[in-house]
Amino acid sequence: MSEAKNRSNIESYKFHHIDINKCSKCKEFSCEDVCFRGIYEVINKDSTPKCIVVEDREDRCVKCHICTTTCKAKAITID
Ligand code: SF4
Ligand code: SF4
Repeated sequence: MSEAKNRSNIESYKFHHIDINKCSKCKEFSCEDVCFRGIYEVINKDSTPKCIVVEDREDRCVKCHICTTTCKAKAITID
């Protein structure tokens, strides 16, 4: 059985949108390291990684776009 590899699965917050299908193949978790406002947490790093926006932190974002630039999979978009 084949599975569509590039299928998007976007989880949306107020203005962050994360393609968790891309996160599921991530090994670097750079979003978590580079965001100096602590917006992201990557959960399930040992199984199916998934980047989440930490509750109540989204409004700290200054839209510097370091995260969108650093995420090689281009999983993050910010409105
Ligand atoms: S947002 Fe990018 S860097 Fe962060 S876990 Fe997802 S794919 Fe990896
Ligand atoms: S744009 Fe900047 S402040 Fe906002 S989540 Fe990305 S790295 Fe963090």
